[in-house]
Amino acid sequence: MLNSFKPTWMVESIYQISPEQLKKQNVKAVLADLDNTLIAWDNPEGTQATIQWIETMKKNDIEVIILSNNSKKRVGKIARILKLKFVSRGLKPLTRGFTVALNLLPYKKSEIIMVGDQIVTDIRGANAFGIRSALVKPLLDSDAWNTKFNRFIELKIMNYLIKKNPDMKWRNSLHDPIRK
Ligand SMILES: [Mg+2]
Repeated sequence: MLNSFKPTWMVESIYQISPEQLKKQNVKAVLADLDNTLIAWDNPEGTQATIQWIETMKKNDIEVIILSNNSKKRVGKIARILKLKFVSRGLKPLTRGFTVALNLLPYKKSEIIMVGDQIVTDIRGANAFGIRSALVKPLLDSDAWNTKFNRFIELKIMNYLIKKNPDMKWRNSLHDPIRK
């Protein structure tokens, strides 16, 4: 039960994911959630850490696409600054946005992963779409009001999953996947 919320990896932050780790897992592209994954939700420009991580990915031929449930106006603005392709109003956990993102890439599902901070949208969506996923800790503890309710549900689900799966622990790389 609730396995649809289970990520492939749990990594403290997206910035800890390196091209070497991705290549070892045969990953060619990363679908990245925007708010609280790539950038703090109250920091619309992105930090130096964000810019640097994206640069490192680009240099190593790992494509990054933003897949966000947020509006085209907001996601588009940041995507332009970061020079990334994007899918807005992704409707995660539905698979529609994942399909749109996959169509922007010359890769197979097995070669892309989703990275996000929410199990009810990012991870559940990735599982429904049939791709691997990395759950990251939200960059900021406080959230927009519409995320607060999700967080409450997520805490309940995470507590249940962690009880059932003792190897669900935060790590600082993609090296150890969580056992199925
Ligand atoms: Mg998020």
